[in-house]
Amino acid sequence: DNFEDVDMGEIIMGNIMLTRYTRPTPVQKHAIPIITGKRDLMACAQTGSGKTAAFLVPILSQLYIEGPGDASFASKDMSRFGRRKQFPLALILAPTRELASQIYDEARKFSYRSCVRPCVVYGGADIGQQIRELERGCHLLVATPGRLVDMMERAKIGLEYCKYLVLDEADRMLDMGFEPQIRKIVEQDVMPTRGVRQTLMFSATFPKEIQLLARDFLEDYIFLAV
Ligand code: AMP
Repeated sequence: DNFEDVDMGEIIMGNIMLTRYTRPTPVQKHAIPIITGKRDLMACAQTGSGKTAAFLVPILSQLYIEGPGDASFASKDMSRFGRRKQFPLALILAPTRELASQIYDEARKFSYRSCVRPCVVYGGADIGQQIRELERGCHLLVATPGRLVDMMERAKIGLEYCKYLVLDEADRMLDMGFEPQIRKIVEQDVMPTRGVRQTLMFSATFPKEIQLLARDFLEDYIFLAV
């Protein structure tokens, strides 16, 4: 019933202590072992349930424990493209700039003092500034779908090495009409296929459209309702 039950890597563990989260919330307690167990997940969880840490903590600790791994491939690519194109190892899609910023703030807390560098991009803000931040390095990217498609079309982001994909508040993303952009991001041929990448979907509701998205994006997934 505490965070020490899972092998997190010392730095991430220390950062959890710094956030003063002493006990995992129910969604964290159930989702973290599923994610570290490398399974795909469809989780029905509300805002306020602690779902952000439920996916960030295991993803960041796996990136940290696994070390540069694929990132060394990414840096090979980086020399080919200069430092201009970034190849994040984890991608979190979120519906709004507010939610994306909150996820990014939490990712910064948990990655503090680690080699993992999070970035955030969203629409309605200066793209030049976001590109300059990306060019400083990006291992974990939090993005709204429209702005990410824009960044990919400008060849600032490549998803070839993305091994963790999270769709947060998936029902809200569909309500806002982001399905074409999401499908473009996930189903284009550069993103590793399902089963190769690990995919996690979080949604407050589980209507037909979300079930269809889960069928298309997830591989042999575990369903969790909290
Ligand atoms: P979320 O549902 O991810 O938006 O989180 C809701 C709020 O709960 C955020 O302000 C988090 O900082 C906080 N929180 C998340 N996990 C924990 C925890 N294990 N203990 C205490 N607070 C938490």
